[in-house]
Formats: sequence, structure tokens, C-alpha cells
Amino acid sequence: MKIEEKLARNKFDIDREVHIQVDEEKCKACESKVCLYACPAECYVLRAEGHVTFSYEGCLECGSCRFSCDKGTIAWVNPRGGFGVCYQYG
Ligand code: SF4
Ligand code: SF4
Repeated sequence: MKIEEKLARNKFDIDREVHIQVDEEKCKACESKVCLYACPAECYVLRAEGHVTFSYEGCLECGSCRFSCDKGTIAWVNPRGGFGVCYQYG
């Protein structure tokens, strides 16, 4: 089974409270944009003119973006209890 197929079996109970906040204005000045490579769920997307946008709904709660971004741009907490990803395969 491919990784994409495994990920597709995850379930999400999406919290209305956003658990990861990204200051996208600060991202405009970022050259590395390492979050694009760190996030396995592709929550960070490169738009036109180098603009990065973020959406939390498909977050796998791995924490990679939190530790990879060296600009202090990401405010990261876990979703509230009972919300977020539910893994099918651990
Ligand atoms: S690495 Fe950090 S500052 Fe750079 S684009 Fe990603 S979230 Fe923004
Ligand atoms: S915690 Fe992991 S899955 Fe969630 S946005 Fe950050 S890198 Fe992506």
C-alpha cells in the first residue's frame, strides 16, 4: 500500500479552533520556505509570486513545521481533546 493510500484512511474531526497559526505576512520575506518540504500533509502551499498559504484541516500533528521554521512564524499547539487526526495505521 502506498503512503498516499495509508494517509487517505486517516479520519479527521476538525476543530473550529485553529491549532496552528502562521503569520503569512512574515512568510513573504522568508527565502528558505522550508515548511513546504517539512510538512508531509502539504498544509503549506506555494502560491503565485512566492506567497505561502497555510491550512490546518489536514494536519497530521507531527510537529515538523514547528521545528523546521527558523523565523518564529508558527504558533503551534495540539488540537483540543477529541479533535484532530485519528490514525488508521498508528
Ligand atoms: S519556513 Fe516559516 S517563515 Fe518560511 S514560509 Fe514557512 S512558515 Fe513562513
Ligand atoms: S504539524 Fe506536521 S502535518 Fe501539521 S502542519 Fe505541521 S508539518 Fe504539517
